[in-house]
Amino acid sequence: MERTYLMIKPDGVQRGIIGLIIHRFESRGLKLLGLKMMQATEEILAEHYAHLKDKSFFPSLLAYMTSGPVVGMVWEGSQAVSVCRTMLGPTNPCTANPGTIRGDFALISSKNVIHGSDSVENAEKEIQLWIPGKNAQK
Ligand code: UDP
Ligand code: MG
Repeated sequence: MERTYLMIKPDGVQRGIIGLIIHRFESRGLKLLGLKMMQATEEILAEHYAHLKDKSFFPSLLAYMTSGPVVGMVWEGSQAVSVCRTMLGPTNPCTANPGTIRGDFALISSKNVIHGSDSVENAEKEIQLWIPGKNAQK
């Protein structure tokens, strides 16, 4: 069993598709271990997106991610990290297949509805960062 960190971004929350998104992962057979609606701060985002801090789009990424609440979630299942990344679709929704979340609900990278951890190691770091205490309950 593996855990991953998914986060519905402000555009997903604002558009009222939280339920639709959660339904997809439940239907797939993944188990929801934790869920938290919160306002992301620039501090937590700077850590979460540390690998992107030198990119030209970083300031607009911070503005997007702080434009409204996000919904952070911990999901568990067999190969949860890669299964969920496949269900999200690629970063740029233009290239995402229909049937993926980004392929069905998004069109541009700067508003791509959902985050998903890209490795088991990053998943555990992100769970600890966004939903502290979840690790202790493992
Ligand atoms: N992003 C963007 N423009 C880009 C690349 C990334 O706005 O050209 C944003 C987008 O919201 C993306 C996030 O930065 O989801 C994190 O980028 P990453 O490369 O980690 O993509 P992800 O893992 O989310 O697919
Ligand atoms: Mg990423």
